[in-house]
Amino acid sequence: MLLVVAAAMVRGDQVLVQQRPEGTQMAGLWEFPGGKIEPGESPESALARELREELGIEVNPAAPVPLTFASAPLGGRHLLLLLYRLDSWQGTPEPHHANALRWADMATLRTLPMPPADLPFLGVLDALLGR
Ligand code: C5P
Repeated sequence: MLLVVAAAMVRGDQVLVQQRPEGTQMAGLWEFPGGKIEPGESPESALARELREELGIEVNPAAPVPLTFASAPLGGRHLLLLLYRLDSWQGTPEPHHANALRWADMATLRTLPMPPADLPFLGVLDALLGR
């Protein structure tokens, strides 16, 4: 079982998604930023670390609010993805690992190709973003 945390960073009626770079699994797909929980880490501190590495922003580990989870098979393993809502952070997100970043409203999110584990989150975000 692979345990992964991801963030729905909310800005008005938009959330941030990043495009997976060439040469990685699922290249070109748009995902919520995040990554694997390392041994000994809490999900919130893993999320803060991943967002620092991937976007160059600072997140108070008390800030992420758990929203929902989803699971999907991933290369013979099982991925459990935990989604947190995040309303505040320090700094401006930059694509340190991603091909590109994009602030997307619900209508846009629905048009973007996403990894299978991220797709079930659209229902919850629909309620959250109010469209
Ligand atoms: O970013 P990292 O390589 O640590 O992510 C671990 C795994 O979780 C990857 O295989 C990635 O495809 C998957 N993942 C995902 N959706 C996300 C974040 C990561 O499916 N939002």
